[in-house]
Amino acid sequence: MQMKHVLNAAEMKQQNEKKVLDQIRIRPIPRIEIARNIGLTRAAVSVLANQLIDQGILMEGQAVSGKKGRHSVELMLNPDTYFMVGVDLARDDCTLGIVDFAGRIREIRKLRFDGSKKDAGEALEKLSGCLAALLEAHTCPGRLLGIGITAPGPLDVRQGVILNPPNFPLWHHCAIADAFARRFSCFTVLENNAKALALAEKYYGIGARFSDYISLVVDTGIGGGIMLEGRLYEGAHGFGSDFGHISLDMNGKRCSCGNRGCAELYGAMPNILAQARKLDAGLNSWRQVVDGAEAGQENALKILELEAGYLGALITNIANIFDIGTVILAGDIAYHGELITRRIEEIVNGQFIGRQVSRVSVYPSKMPEHANVLACANLVMEAFSRKQISLE
Ligand SMILES: [Zn+2]
Repeated sequence: MQMKHVLNAAEMKQQNEKKVLDQIRIRPIPRIEIARNIGLTRAAVSVLANQLIDQGILMEGQAVSGKKGRHSVELMLNPDTYFMVGVDLARDDCTLGIVDFAGRIREIRKLRFDGSKKDAGEALEKLSGCLAALLEAHTCPGRLLGIGITAPGPLDVRQGVILNPPNFPLWHHCAIADAFARRFSCFTVLENNAKALALAEKYYGIGARFSDYISLVVDTGIGGGIMLEGRLYEGAHGFGSDFGHISLDMNGKRCSCGNRGCAELYGAMPNILAQARKLDAGLNSWRQVVDGAEAGQENALKILELEAGYLGALITNIANIFDIGTVILAGDIAYHGELITRRIEEIVNGQFIGRQVSRVSVYPSKMPEHANVLACANLVMEAFSRKQISLE
């Protein structure tokens, strides 16, 4: 039998500090509201907050009037203390940016690569050079807190190594986190892009409203992340939540992962758009499909219905496993996402096993522009709030 770990005073303080920081990462908020949200006394929140203010991590913002006309001062992250770097690797390019401690993107750069090549050494050199130039030229105040890197999986997140993601030969077996840690002498973290986005949804998207949700990213592939009690589910070895590789047809086409009939073979953008073009050569992008469907075009509506069917089947599987009432759709699929999410909700709520007592709600993500870079930087923020970064 496993013994329940009882927190000592220091661990309790650290946990409470994380809770306070989590509230402020979502938005500027007065002490009294934090106390209410996390179930601590206002005095306890004040002690923790004042220590964080003394350390330069938090600052006081404007006074807001609360109930009974009382004024309280909002607490916010001090953007001048630290900044983070985000690096999001895709097959043929990379987006890198500087994000200030308050979560605002200050610089963005895009770097192109020949993704069909197999030369991680050369690509790493080019990327490091670009990052060094960015760090030289940037105008963000404060000190570099760390570098957050995301890529498609499979990854060895513990070792910070990109393994062998399909259609991603350039970066195969690249120990990118270590290389950056050495070159830039800072904390680095590597995470699956979809899982990083799921976590960022809590702080910058609509995820703050829910303690449990599934984030499903539908673009060139299908990925996802699982948030349970406000925490990203990491899996026993850093894998898991690879929803795109749930099979919808055991006799279907062979997938690059080794399984057959995986959901992303049908529902990922390149695949649904290939079907769209067969029907109508004018349907070349998901935006065109959605715009057409909103205008009532028959072929566009058929494709939207087909995609809703694939994602409906996939989300039914997910709902049957997790019994979670909230799914957030991100990536290309989120464009004017209300139409498809409504249809997916109808499908899922007509067939998942718990439908007599609960409902699954599906929302399009509302993350700001450059959500991918924000999600990278947010990994560093998360490590900081968990006291995983040593700053001396
Ligand atoms: Zn697969």
